[in-house]
Amino acid sequence: MSPVNGVRWFVTAVLLASCGRAPDLHVHGVAVYVETTAPFAQRGDLETRLESTVQAALDYWQGSWTDVAGRTITLDGGTHVACEGNASAIGCYDGNIRVSTNDVGAGTFSCVEQTVLVHEIGHAVIGDPLHQDPRWMEMDALADALAGRTGYDAEGEVPCVIFVSVWRHPLGRP
Ligand SMILES: [Zn+2]
Repeated sequence: MSPVNGVRWFVTAVLLASCGRAPDLHVHGVAVYVETTAPFAQRGDLETRLESTVQAALDYWQGSWTDVAGRTITLDGGTHVACEGNASAIGCYDGNIRVSTNDVGAGTFSCVEQTVLVHEIGHAVIGDPLHQDPRWMEMDALADALAGRTGYDAEGEVPCVIFVSVWRHPLGRP
């Protein structure tokens, strides 16, 4: 093994160790980890749904795939994801994106569009951790763009109803 190959092997090993395993799929340059048993996440259309959902969010936030290239998206089965001292976050952007797929009130989400993924894509594009941009309290246009899709529960197809309130965030708060 040449020194260069040795370094490359080491870097690869560290990356694999930090993630635990290889991604379940890739959407453009984004590695996606499916760590939920939510029925929508086991469906064959997950990749195209993720792609079109992220695309709609990028359009809303006026970003592009280069804003999320090299990042990871994790679909988490818990009701909350840990996020920099906030144990009760339903989504997190800390350079990578993690979103809950299990709402405390509504139960398991029936489609990826219902998660706070579109909110976290906003952080990836504009940063703004204090939520000062008025767009954090809008998003009706984004809801319209993603409306009318199919969701899934354990029995089969159900409507993918979007609650824009899940994505919104009071302005001026972390
Ligand atoms: Zn936020």
